[in-house]
Amino acid sequence: MEGTTVIVLNADFSPLNVVKYRRAINLVLNKKAVVVEATKKMIVSAERTVKMLVPKVIRLVEYVNFLRKTVPVYSKKLVVIRDKFRCAYCGTKDVTLTIDHVVPKSRGGKTNFQNCVAACYECNNKKRDREPHEAGMKLLVKPYKPSVYDFIRWKMQNIAWSLTTE
Ligand SMILES: [Zn+2]
Repeated sequence: MEGTTVIVLNADFSPLNVVKYRRAINLVLNKKAVVVEATKKMIVSAERTVKMLVPKVIRLVEYVNFLRKTVPVYSKKLVVIRDKFRCAYCGTKDVTLTIDHVVPKSRGGKTNFQNCVAACYECNNKKRDREPHEAGMKLLVKPYKPSVYDFIRWKMQNIAWSLTTE
């Protein structure tokens, strides 16, 4: 129950965030949000003044604009989560992963989601400061910038994450 998370939708039903269920219940009780979908778990307050099903999805009553800009900010950890904890070149899992710049930094490759992938030590060493084709290597994934939807999915899967506003 403690770890139960609730999806928060904006007034226009677009996904915004994920919050702890207590926060979600407070939003509903303060009439800031309405329940879209509930779980089967009932929560009763100590004074018995509140008795309701724990929400699964809530929707804000008023449209919130600033959260629209809420995007994942680049981090090594998120690159590894995005690449499903696998080396982007050989697919190895359960090894310590490094971050590889697809276009090497020495050639102006940027440190961002679009140019960085998770790579095992071996592949990273093999590739060195070359582009994959020059090293005879192939990317198994296409690096992309995660969306707020990805965040919500990862959060629901209880993967450690950080959400910052750009
Ligand atoms: Zn590898």
